[in-house]
Amino acid sequence: MTQSTASLSERVARTPSSATVRIADLASEMRRKGIQILDFSAGRAVEGSPQYINEAASQSLLTGDTHQTPAQGKPEYRENIAHKLQRENDLDVDPDKNVIATLGCKNGLTLALMATINPGDEVIVEDPCFVSYGATIGFFEGKTVPVPLRAENDFRWTRNELERAVTDRTRCILICSPQNPTGTVHTEDDLDMISEVAKSHNLWVISDEIYERITWGGRRHICIASRSGMKDRSIGLMGFTKTFSMGGWRIGYMVAPETIIESCVVFQQHLMTCAGSFTQAGAALALSEMVRSEVLEMWMDWEKRCQFVTEEINKIPKLSCRMPEGAFYAWIDIRQTGEMSADFCERMLEEQRVALVPGAPFGPSGEGYVRMTCVKSWDDLKKGLKRILEGLS
Ligand code: PMP
Repeated sequence: MTQSTASLSERVARTPSSATVRIADLASEMRRKGIQILDFSAGRAVEGSPQYINEAASQSLLTGDTHQTPAQGKPEYRENIAHKLQRENDLDVDPDKNVIATLGCKNGLTLALMATINPGDEVIVEDPCFVSYGATIGFFEGKTVPVPLRAENDFRWTRNELERAVTDRTRCILICSPQNPTGTVHTEDDLDMISEVAKSHNLWVISDEIYERITWGGRRHICIASRSGMKDRSIGLMGFTKTFSMGGWRIGYMVAPETIIESCVVFQQHLMTCAGSFTQAGAALALSEMVRSEVLEMWMDWEKRCQFVTEEINKIPKLSCRMPEGAFYAWIDIRQTGEMSADFCERMLEEQRVALVPGAPFGPSGEGYVRMTCVKSWDDLKKGLKRILEGLS
């Protein structure tokens, strides 16, 4: 095929590929060639989605639920979302006005940014943060403004630093709790500080709550929208990819003020039409009652795996990490090795056949760290940690 001379958009050059997806793809490619890789890169648990939820989606498919739904999502899905928000998140919302079904949180983030920023507007993000934030803000020609989460401050913002980052062009503060990659779970004080800054500068807060039920040590996730005066300026992004291990389903939802939902419904009509019909049916069941015991048991075992990984990492010379407060990553400090995070991960992949994600793509403060997913099988975790130890000996 000859190379086309037609030009590509500037957006292409501006958008890096996802570091986590790239490494996971590389690892699966190596595996396809027969190389035994232990893959701790992408945030995917070894468990599949719960069987009772799979059955609900299959049943919906088999009974002919194969057509488009309203762009905002099925009414019964939205009603279950509203009940769950009331039951678990101290949030009272109108399912017809404050909720839209999304194809996962990434689709929700795209819609939220579409609705709130113009070219040149600034979005404050945690540094380090999920690798897709900067790329998605870039789609809309926004500017990403990273504010460090410092290890010495327990990976939390200080009011001074956050306040200093606000300019005339700031439109949104984008937060994530439980946080990927550091594992921080925002406390009431953290959220009230962020709320004060948002209110005093009239900003939106986009709150990525994809890991909402994955909290450890008895901690509880708190929605920023439930804090005083925040419901009218918060855009919550929630989903099933992590908590229910439903990453392939591409289903989630956004909770936001009516003006935002109205705008997102219009965008969704053109962008995706709607979230999947049968995926909404499965997700509706996941929300319709208190979580079933098999899922609770899975989460309890995830906490044990996070504990095990962090304890073992801290026994390895030159590496350290804290037990995450939530989410399921070990955010490993490799600074004592003197290696750059990309070199460290490349060496681990080539020499030890272990896939980890370098910290640098998570933001300027990510250099000096690598991320390891803890929710793989016990056997793989044990083998992987042994190989990492060997790689440092
Ligand atoms: N937000 C964060 C913080 C994530 O870590 C991920 C997945 N890695 C996503 C969003 C993507 O969520 P979804 O699969 O629901 O699009």
